[in-house]
Amino acid sequence: MTDSAPAIAGAEGFAALGLHDSLVQAVAVSGYTEPTPVQSAAIPKAIAGTDLMVSSATGSGKTAAFLLPSLHRLVTRDVRAVAGAGPSILVLTPTRELSLQVTRACETYGRSLRWLRTASVVGGVPYGAQLRAVRAPLDVLIATPGRLLDLLNGGRLSLSRVEVLVLDEADRMLDMGFIEDIEAIAAATPKTRQTLLFSATLDGTVAKLAANLMNEPQRVELESSRERQDHITQRLHWADGRSHKDRLLDRLLADPTIDQAIVFTATQRDAERVAEQLEADGHAVAALHGGMPQSIRTRTLTSLRQGRLRVLVATDVAARGIDVPTISHVINYGLPIAAEDYVHRIGRTGRAGRTGIAVTLAEHAEIRKIRTIERFTDQRIPVAVIEGLEPTQRAASPARPGPQRHGRPGGSRFEGRREGGSGPARKTGTR
Ligand code: AMP
Repeated sequence: MTDSAPAIAGAEGFAALGLHDSLVQAVAVSGYTEPTPVQSAAIPKAIAGTDLMVSSATGSGKTAAFLLPSLHRLVTRDVRAVAGAGPSILVLTPTRELSLQVTRACETYGRSLRWLRTASVVGGVPYGAQLRAVRAPLDVLIATPGRLLDLLNGGRLSLSRVEVLVLDEADRMLDMGFIEDIEAIAAATPKTRQTLLFSATLDGTVAKLAANLMNEPQRVELESSRERQDHITQRLHWADGRSHKDRLLDRLLADPTIDQAIVFTATQRDAERVAEQLEADGHAVAALHGGMPQSIRTRTLTSLRQGRLRVLVATDVAARGIDVPTISHVINYGLPIAAEDYVHRIGRTGRAGRTGIAVTLAEHAEIRKIRTIERFTDQRIPVAVIEGLEPTQRAASPARPGPQRHGRPGGSRFEGRREGGSGPARKTGTR
């Protein structure tokens, strides 16, 4: 870094991590002044070339924690991409939304690298443009596993030049049944690659995956999810039933302090019904769920980001990857299937150093699900009432939550149907 590089001012913390000037500059332009804890811990180790298993929450700055050192590698080794040879950096993410989010972040952090070629390969969109993108010179490829494996099996793509493989939200990919796909993709990359694994938890199946794919990985474990969510104020309203929930929602959305809100529903049908109802009430609102064409989903997210929507009504498919700092409120109209999805949902607010409010509406019969969430987060959700909209029934047996459970298999999962089908969510619709 030179003294005459004013754009870097304010981002010295990133220079101290050992990142190349061009990346430090891009970070400064993004307005970041200090690295987040996950960035401080992971970036120097990743630059040193070690495999890393990093426990990281959504909103912690994890994307930059793997993209910056990976881009640093490209900048410093000075090799340019060759048409048809495949990417040097491969990032796997569980959902299309997260892939597109990471792609945007890569373009942001790589803004001063004019030669940098980034592409994304996700399911639910036509193959044509993706095939052209992977045939062209390519540095960074960001993909969901199903579609990537399709291209790989069809001989459309080579992964023989991959130097860094990133598994983003590895726990989620395993939950979605992608383990075999991930292993097949990893097997198509060189053994000498660096593997960076990011996950909410590093136990159980994630540890097994790491044991198979990684080379003496170092662990980077940050504070618990509970501590990370302290900037989000949570509360719970008991509701007598659907029409009571509708009235509560109506009142909650009348709050002038809401900048933008995401209302989460349990089913696609509810997402559409609630969005229609709110639109009829004059809200700037849209629905977002996995049954909608990708083009509409992308357009809706753009409207949200540009502030043209005040309310998004979404299923859990939207719970990850949405990164819009102006989302001030999350309202759980329907409870998530899995307790950890609660954490991901409320993490849509309170982004980038802001505070957020997360309000959950639950029916009395759902008390067990609420207790499961509270056990998972090791935190009681304070109950509140709105004057004139008090519940008429009382929730039964408010048992105290037990100790926090680390590792998620079984215990944190509610019974019920995931969006788009019964049983554990598979990669349906992602190819
Ligand atoms: P992530 O956890 O990667 O989804 O990032 C969450 C949000 O934090 C994104 O909006 C990033 O742009 C933002 N962010 C990442 N790193 C920093 C930083 N060092 N300072 C401030 N904001 C950041």
